[in-house]
Amino acid sequence: MKAKKRSSRRSRCNTEVELGNTGTHSGEGTIRMIIDIHSHVWEYPKHFGDGFRLQAKRGRADVELDLTVRYEEYAQDAREETRTVVFGGKARLSGMWVDDQYVADQVAAHPDKLIGFLSVDPTQNNWEKEMHAGHQDMGLKGIKLLSMYAGFYPNDPSLDPLWKYAQKHRLPVLLHTGTTFISQAPIDCTLPRHLDPVAIRYPEVRIVMAHLAHPYEGECVAVIRKHPNVYADVSALHYRPYQLYNSLMLVQEYGVWDKLLFGTDYPFTTVDASVDGLRGLNGMLEGTAFPRLDTDQIESLIYRDGLEILGLA
Ligand SMILES: [Zn+2]
Repeated sequence: MKAKKRSSRRSRCNTEVELGNTGTHSGEGTIRMIIDIHSHVWEYPKHFGDGFRLQAKRGRADVELDLTVRYEEYAQDAREETRTVVFGGKARLSGMWVDDQYVADQVAAHPDKLIGFLSVDPTQNNWEKEMHAGHQDMGLKGIKLLSMYAGFYPNDPSLDPLWKYAQKHRLPVLLHTGTTFISQAPIDCTLPRHLDPVAIRYPEVRIVMAHLAHPYEGECVAVIRKHPNVYADVSALHYRPYQLYNSLMLVQEYGVWDKLLFGTDYPFTTVDASVDGLRGLNGMLEGTAFPRLDTDQIESLIYRDGLEILGLA
């Protein structure tokens, strides 16, 4: 555990996590925690079909992905104290299926560190039963949806029971939004615009659009700006630094820094790499007159208390 100095220029709109709730202050220093709102648990390749595994080679242009998840490795690649929201994912169309019990078992092994979300694929029978069981029997605390990977629209009327349930039981809903390497996953299903009517009908549900909906960040910013309970996470973006710089410039110019949550998308990347990537973005601009990202806002994002914001604290 490392102590990190508190910035004297601590910015507005930031809910920082401090250990022990009240925080540990010593002089000007305070120990802060990172909340990773987006991380995976699964067995690779067991929980994936052959088609998914072959197509995953398109995931990163420069590296061959090893999607094996080991909590010990995850923790080693985090310099600071971390609490993590984990989920598996269900999308029959794309060949991935992680049972909620597997997620619950991983959480049970690290109950002080991990918060688990259930998953449903609403194109499959029994999804409502699985949602109730994941929440009521397994104690999972939110819902992860893969609309594009599973091939459904989040605003489809058939999902009303899901949104009503989430609103009634205060379950945050995190959706993959943004592109994919899977051919049969229809891109249209992922567009942020489809969450606008959901947020209009269910304004109390805390919704997180993953990955700033890359490369549809403009649409994502338009939706998070108009809905108080709709957020975006910045997971799995730092390794496309020019694109992330542009995305965060959109965020800055529209004034929605406070709607971003920190996340990694482990095993696609790690906590340290994500933090370093965010802090390094302005470095690309040296020698240019391009506008800089607000470094106070970047620090606020890294230490934002996503659990508090999502009602999970
Ligand atoms: Zn993910």
